[in-house]
Amino acid sequence: MRSFISFIACVIFSVPLSATDTTRYELLDRLRDYLRNDLRLDIGDEFYTTWNESGTRLSYIYVSRPDTLAPPEGVDAFIYIGEDSLRADSVFFTYAIQNYHSLHYRTAGTSAAKLNAALWNYPEEAFVFIVIHEAVHVHLQRMHKKIPYEDEEALCDATADHFGPLFLRSISGEYKAALRQRKINENIYAKLNHAEDRFYKEKTKAEMLRARTEKDVQRQLKKANAFQVDRYNYPVNNAYLMRYHSYAHNYFFFRAQYLEYNSRPPDVIAPRCY
Ligand SMILES: [Zn+2]
Repeated sequence: MRSFISFIACVIFSVPLSATDTTRYELLDRLRDYLRNDLRLDIGDEFYTTWNESGTRLSYIYVSRPDTLAPPEGVDAFIYIGEDSLRADSVFFTYAIQNYHSLHYRTAGTSAAKLNAALWNYPEEAFVFIVIHEAVHVHLQRMHKKIPYEDEEALCDATADHFGPLFLRSISGEYKAALRQRKINENIYAKLNHAEDRFYKEKTKAEMLRARTEKDVQRQLKKANAFQVDRYNYPVNNAYLMRYHSYAHNYFFFRAQYLEYNSRPPDVIAPRCY
């Protein structure tokens, strides 16, 4: 039976849905039920119910000092640009020509939780990962739970990597691709954590370390899906290491919590740490 949301999309866009679209809408409906009922997340009524019609990826600029993994004085952890990629390029170059390390990061997923073409076309395991990741952001926001940014991103990723395969196993039994995706995420995060550790211990060898880490990331991306290539395929400089510090540094802590406490929902896991 066609779900309510796919019916609405049909009406709005006046186009027949393909079999793939119908399957994806059904997957999304079941995932929303899982987030609400099994993970007990407050995702509200609007969560991934509307489309971002322009379909443009959103830009973020990360800037780090060249001698450490931190933004310059007065600059936030990232500069949110949105859809204006020309402005993003200009901000990127403003910092790059001052010798700072910059990263122009483009993403299909934000906690505004709107559908877009890039997200829709990712393989199933990536789509599920992104939706769960954003669900944790939305939940924390709606519950007014403030946790440090670096913990929040790591919690979102660990939650998506832990529950994504469990959700897919529960609906279809097909979850090998989700396990492979998790393995690649974890391999990359282990390499980045190692690189960060070495960076502070051997600053004189930073250039060599960044080059070696880029090779390590590229090796993992040979086996990765399109989402992971979009997410990690950037030159590894200090801005890259700084961005992924927020995702990777505490990732294994949260993942261990999920394993130790037998798949508890994130709401139970997060307060345990504070
Ligand atoms: Zn996030």
